[in-house]
Amino acid sequence: MSAPLQVPSCSRCERPSVLHQRYSGRSFCNTHLIDSVHKRFAKELRRQLDLPKSGKTTTILVAISGGKDSAILLDRLVKILGQRRDVVLIAGCVDEGIDGYRSPSMKCAIELAEKKNVEFVSISYPELGFERMDEVVQKMPLIGKKHSHVKGMAPCSFCGVFRRQGLNYLAEKTGADVMALGHNLDDMAQTVLMNMQKGDLERTLRLAPHTSNPIDGLPPRIVPMRWIPEQEIHATAMALDLPFFHDECPYSPGALRQRNRDMVARLEEDVPGSRHGLVHMVDAIKELESKTSENVRPATPTPCPLCSAPTSGDICKGCEFVQMLKEVSE
Ligand code: SF4
Ligand SMILES: [Zn+2]
Ligand SMILES: [Zn+2]
Repeated sequence: MSAPLQVPSCSRCERPSVLHQRYSGRSFCNTHLIDSVHKRFAKELRRQLDLPKSGKTTTILVAISGGKDSAILLDRLVKILGQRRDVVLIAGCVDEGIDGYRSPSMKCAIELAEKKNVEFVSISYPELGFERMDEVVQKMPLIGKKHSHVKGMAPCSFCGVFRRQGLNYLAEKTGADVMALGHNLDDMAQTVLMNMQKGDLERTLRLAPHTSNPIDGLPPRIVPMRWIPEQEIHATAMALDLPFFHDECPYSPGALRQRNRDMVARLEEDVPGSRHGLVHMVDAIKELESKTSENVRPATPTPCPLCSAPTSGDICKGCEFVQMLKEVSE
């Protein structure tokens, strides 16, 4: 007869564990997982969010997508800051125009904002002057024929640029002083690796949080979940019974990020703690950069002559993509 399956217990109580943290060797039950995630979130939020002592109101645009990460982001921000009179939280969602994905996830986002009693705002790509992603994807092969650097690009290259502009638009519309993003530890480690693969120091230096290095013309971004792994966020969102959309965007497979996701997962599997290491490395680079003389820093972005979005090129990436889309529509 085989021995009964032993569920390991939580490292802090007798209850069965729901999650094992390989990088620390600890296990958690639902209650202690929520507790641990909350503590890490609150600690990082204190580090990143500089609220004025004067009591002046700070408006935070919380970028939500309907997924688990932003569900935890909004839930914890409401828990920590919801009672403060000097903080206004507004949930903002960008509608990329992806059939079968955006409308159900938007529904979850609206449901969450209502449940948390937070104002909800949204903007769609057509409202921003962009085409819906479903149309962009159709046109990408044609654009690739005209512009070799677009050939092989994933839809996310366009979408990421458009969405960033959408969030900037919402931040401006709501008068946000700060923007909160739901990037988890895996997202951050993937971004670090992607920037390193491209040798992109400028982006590495501009990586959120922006508390001590704000980017001109944009509200500083905070990422209070940056030390919390995706798996822990997922388990916590389930434990808290938050409404969130489980499916992935249909255009995410094959994207560079997806491949980096696998790579980061393999690194972590091989050497637990690798994700933390990658993100710590960028903090160290940013710290070093802050001590160097001005002239080695990347140029401050200037307003795009076509749409006034901040850019380090002649025109912004959004306008460049819009022009390419127009070319193939003519
Ligand atoms: S996975 Fe890519 S295409 Fe889909 S919503 Fe995200 S950035 Fe856009
Ligand atoms: Zn426990
Ligand atoms: Zn522009």
